[in-house]
Amino acid sequence: MKDLLREIRADLAPYGAQLVAVSKTKPKEAVQEAYDLEQRIFGENRVQEMSAKHEDLAKDIQWHLIGSLQRNKVKYIAPFVSLIHSVDELKLLAEINKKAAQSNRTIDCLLQFHIAQESTKFGLKLNEARELLASDSFTEMKNVRIVGLMGMASFSDDHKQVSAEFRSLRMAFEELKSNFFPEEGSFKELSMGMSGDYKIALEEGSTLVRIGSRIFGSR
Ligand SMILES: *Cc1c(COP(=O)(O)O)cnc(C)c1O
Repeated sequence: MKDLLREIRADLAPYGAQLVAVSKTKPKEAVQEAYDLEQRIFGENRVQEMSAKHEDLAKDIQWHLIGSLQRNKVKYIAPFVSLIHSVDELKLLAEINKKAAQSNRTIDCLLQFHIAQESTKFGLKLNEARELLASDSFTEMKNVRIVGLMGMASFSDDHKQVSAEFRSLRMAFEELKSNFFPEEGSFKELSMGMSGDYKIALEEGSTLVRIGSRIFGSR
């Protein structure tokens, strides 16, 4: 793991991007091993698994929720989650806002976009994101902060296609930033890139790569 982490960090360094080590399905010992190698940001896609690891491991770990989140489970992670990558509807955001308020917190979130060709990958379209950000209910939310966008490219060997999909997310990011967050420095994260395509994502402007199997082995 040490050499793999070193390699990935060397890839990220010229871009100033951060690594989310995706530890889903892996035991807490694997998280601890990466923690001992100075990794602090971990990504999980199941609420229960993330909560259990949060309980058991060091409290300076930043837990990122990736993957679909059911509204009735927000309450379990609201007290500690550091970033939610997968907000795809206003109703979910409203629930995050409510539970964040009950924990006296503001929770950072990303809007997840649909950029891949596969219909299985969920997420917003640009016009839906515009609508969400322009809505009164969003502007009244005091305990959530939208800090950027997340997207998954098609699972494909076609470099050009993957690259074009990441670029489309980058362009959506730039547009929303200038229209909705003109003077705030907080809208700054582009979560894109996984084990197989993170180098392409970095070329297209990723600030957060989510890498699992390349660090922890196949699931
Ligand atoms: C599992 C997962 C990853 C990591 O995938 P790898 O191919 O193992 O790097 C990244 N993002 C999301 C949303 C995931 O569900």
